[in-house]
Amino acid sequence: MQERLATERLDRAKRRQLLREDEPLIGKPLPMAPGAVRAVQANTRHVVLMLRDTELAKRASAAAAFCGDILDATLKAKTQGPVACTKGCSYCCKTYVGVTIPEIFRVADAMRSDTAKAARVREAAAASKPLSQTEREITRVVCPILEDKACSVYAPRPIVCRAVLSSSLPACLRIFEENSGEMVPFAGNTTDIRAYVTIMLQAALQLAGLPWMHYEMNQALAIALDHRDAEERWLAGDPLFEQVPPDVFDKNGGPLTEMTNALVANLAPTL
Ligand code: SF4
Repeated sequence: MQERLATERLDRAKRRQLLREDEPLIGKPLPMAPGAVRAVQANTRHVVLMLRDTELAKRASAAAAFCGDILDATLKAKTQGPVACTKGCSYCCKTYVGVTIPEIFRVADAMRSDTAKAARVREAAAASKPLSQTEREITRVVCPILEDKACSVYAPRPIVCRAVLSSSLPACLRIFEENSGEMVPFAGNTTDIRAYVTIMLQAALQLAGLPWMHYEMNQALAIALDHRDAEERWLAGDPLFEQVPPDVFDKNGGPLTEMTNALVANLAPTL
């Protein structure tokens, strides 16, 4: 009985009440303390409504931008512990980058008119395509967006690029220059912050009935650049990216997938 009640859609008055309670939490840095889960729920619900708003032609890009802004605000307000990353340090911009499709649309729109960069993306996509995800992680294909050791699409760069922050430059040098096989020593609580925002976007995409997994950036970006109307087509159900393999952790069900599924189950009755 209890299980059945938990999956039943709340009535209209209760859903409206929840939206009113969500309002002060929308677009604010996540608390990263008691209250974080409630803030994630509120902002995920907001992103779902954004993705369901068919009046908004670029709603996938808008959802990715909203999540990127929350991530930046939370990193700025809540990061604990030293961060070694600085402008001009780009050793990690040559490994596997996994992105959701809404994030791809933002990056594609920021570089569509740059034919030289688009050509580099197609070259990097061709170099990445034959590689498994594990091979791609250790094969140093330099990101085609990197220019003068800096990200040339900094504002709309993907969530993973915003939030993979290291506490040790020497460790990054060993990992990315010498393939030492170590794990990046992520700074302070930044992994938790990234996890919250990642599951927020993934769960919202699921609840909006859209593909939610991450894909290798170069291959997905090359497709988005080849189709100026990619976002509209994808939102309408066109399987434009079906030939790009999804991230193996999304496909096989890692810890983030379990958290995403739990959030989806929690929010579904409230929408
Ligand atoms: S998109 Fe920007 S931050 Fe991300 S890997 Fe490429 S150059 Fe680096």
